[in-house]
Amino acid sequence: MGDAMTDMDYENKVKISTEISRSSRVLLVDDQPIVAEAIRRMLADQEDIEFHYCRDPEQAVQTAVTYKPTVILQDLVMPDVDGMTLLGKYKGTAEIQAVPVIVLSTKEDPIIKKDAFERNASDYLIKIPDKIELIARIHAHSRSYLAQKQRDEAFAALRELQVELEKKNAELARLSARDGLTGILNRRSFDELLPKEFNRAVRDNKPLALILIDIDHFKLFNDNYGHQGGDDCLRKVAQELDRVVQRSSDFVARYGGEEFAVVLPGTDCQGAEVVAESLCLAVERLGIVHEYSSAADHVTISAGISVIMPDKRKSAAELVAVADKALYKAKEEGRNRYYICT
Ligand code: GH3
Ligand code: MG
Ligand code: MG
Repeated sequence: MGDAMTDMDYENKVKISTEISRSSRVLLVDDQPIVAEAIRRMLADQEDIEFHYCRDPEQAVQTAVTYKPTVILQDLVMPDVDGMTLLGKYKGTAEIQAVPVIVLSTKEDPIIKKDAFERNASDYLIKIPDKIELIARIHAHSRSYLAQKQRDEAFAALRELQVELEKKNAELARLSARDGLTGILNRRSFDELLPKEFNRAVRDNKPLALILIDIDHFKLFNDNYGHQGGDDCLRKVAQELDRVVQRSSDFVARYGGEEFAVVLPGTDCQGAEVVAESLCLAVERLGIVHEYSSAADHVTISAGISVIMPDKRKSAAELVAVADKALYKAKEEGRNRYYICT
């Protein structure tokens, strides 16, 4: 008694099985209307099977593309069009290439069967097939086709999401590398990139130059022109430094509040001095009024340069310490200038 199937169990079972196979769409391609009529009758009482008949094999591919069958029933011997060739055409048409094809043949011939399967037929039935068997096969092929389609769609959606995620990650990486106020590289990027440049310089046996820059009397600028004015000034100076530093291997970062760092790989003392000079001049030329500076009547910068021929006994931190010392000297000597320590 315990194992007996209740009405409810039975109903659920039927419901599930029809739910899975409800959307079987059968396209029959056969030149003989009499065969079509027989098949149509067999399927007529199946609520979950839709039936469409295509008599002209020349129209088979186009009809399949528009009708979107879940199974194609396909005659092999038709006038004008060879059934085997037609099998290949379905496979060559992207929209329908995955649709299973059940070949309907008059011949129980292993060689023909083998040919059909080699051309990607999914099944082979002798005309006119038994109703129960035909319906069972239509259901089975439809089910696996729909399941495969669902999987393909899920994978495609997943791939789209992955592409989207990669784009977002790249944007996030870009944002997290930049300083929010000035848009140039931030301190984190500087701390990450400088040791890399240092190691590269050791490998390539080339000099590495660092210029530390500090805006002169910026506290007085802030105090007199307001914090907003100070921010605008920082933005303009940063953009200008970034514009002046040209080589693709060079980079400018915001080092601290009103301090910037310029890294110049493969640049010797002479080259670094030329760059520092142009940076000082470029900021001067911005002509940002600063009536409270002792260095000039506009915003100026001081720069400390350090250049080393890196070797394994030195470190990037040493390069920074020396540049910092040079910057202090530039301030001491009157600001709006650069000083170089080697
Ligand atoms: P010195 O010529 O010796 O460099 O003098 P200074 O006034 O520039 O140096 P100090 O270090 O005393 O002042 C730096 C000022 O920079 C103080 C701080 O309020 C300002 N500052 C730092 N970060 C920012 C920022 O993000 N925005 C603004 N508006 N001001 C900032
Ligand atoms: Mg400072
Ligand atoms: Mg300053």
